[in-house]
Amino acid sequence: MGEQREEEWGFSTRAIRTGHRRTPEGEHSEPIFPTSSFVFSSAAEAAARFSGAEPGNIYARFTNPTVRCFEERLAALEGGERCVATASGMSAILATCMGLLQAGDHILSSRSIFGSTTILFNKYLSRFGIATGFVDLTDLAAWEAAIRPETKLLFLETPSNPLTEVADIAGLSELAHAHGCLLVVDNCFCTPALQRPLGLGADIVIHSATKYLDGQGRSIGGAVVGSHELVGEEVFGVLRTAGPTLSPFNAWIFLKGLETLDLRMQAHSRNAQRLAEWLEGRSQVERVYFPGLPSHPQHALAMQQQQAPGGIVAFDVKGGQPAAWSLIDATRILSITANLGDTKTTITHPASTTHGRLTPEERRSSGIGNGLVRIAVGLEAVEDIQADLERGLDSL
Ligand SMILES: *Cc1c(COP(=O)(O)O)cnc(C)c1O
Repeated sequence: MGEQREEEWGFSTRAIRTGHRRTPEGEHSEPIFPTSSFVFSSAAEAAARFSGAEPGNIYARFTNPTVRCFEERLAALEGGERCVATASGMSAILATCMGLLQAGDHILSSRSIFGSTTILFNKYLSRFGIATGFVDLTDLAAWEAAIRPETKLLFLETPSNPLTEVADIAGLSELAHAHGCLLVVDNCFCTPALQRPLGLGADIVIHSATKYLDGQGRSIGGAVVGSHELVGEEVFGVLRTAGPTLSPFNAWIFLKGLETLDLRMQAHSRNAQRLAEWLEGRSQVERVYFPGLPSHPQHALAMQQQQAPGGIVAFDVKGGQPAAWSLIDATRILSITANLGDTKTTITHPASTTHGRLTPEERRSSGIGNGLVRIAVGLEAVEDIQADLERGLDSL
């Protein structure tokens, strides 16, 4: 039998083994390299490394072996040529914009994106001459109509937070390329275990590793995945110069997270599916938002584009904010926190937390009602999560 090449490995094999070059110590688990700089065997070698004539480590703001292991593994999982790891999800987005845009350029973004991303675009990038327009995630015609000659980049998350709307990634990448734009997808909610945007035509994938890649709520980090040219040259250039690099300790945590990513994402999705179906039958619930339900407007697209629906479920309770707060406060197991992608189920009231800074009109137009509750379904026994939510619903 011929030797099986790494490119032919299955997803879980890559998630567990890609990137580790074992040292002469013979360690089984990936080593952490807590070193800020690296030494050279001679002055000539130092000169060759600095000039770029010879590859190798110089300084940990540029490269670090533990961080590189995480980068190679995530690139292999997303199907990208190159990954650069960052100190947070937000710095991944910032470094991407700094690397690929300049004053006068225009970003066209989905309206339903992470709150800090909206602030980064509107408050900070605008100061440097980069304008941003916003459109409805699922309305392909609206995207097309809003593209300007200066538009360089289309930006989206799918499924969206908290309403789990699903974008047509293949359709949007065709549109982007027809207009000479790049498509950037924040793949935080699905991770490569459930969705691989590069395979659907996207140019760049962004991650907040803080969420499902870690999966246990332990540390902050991010990543950008794409081609050698865009990510290996432009985005990496910003990283090594401006410095929001990932620490080797956090890279190690994310490496351990990736090993179980596929199992966890399937389990999050399974628990979420069961809860969403149960919630849909409850009299106190007006509407459930979950891509795995046939009642979801983009159910067919989601099932074709994603391996599984993911772990985010939102629902409207009858009675507005007082009812939503009463439900949340009656739970005993669920954590009241806006974080997601954890083994622990979290529950939040978007209108007064993550989306509290929007005006009531903006919230209405984004479909975020006062009775909306979001749960990021964790990996506890699903019967216990359900009983906890039932306690909440019974309080109404
Ligand atoms: C959390 C999050 C981010 C930001 O990531 P940090 O690691 O908190 O900086 C970006 N996008 C999405 C979709 C997120 O959920």
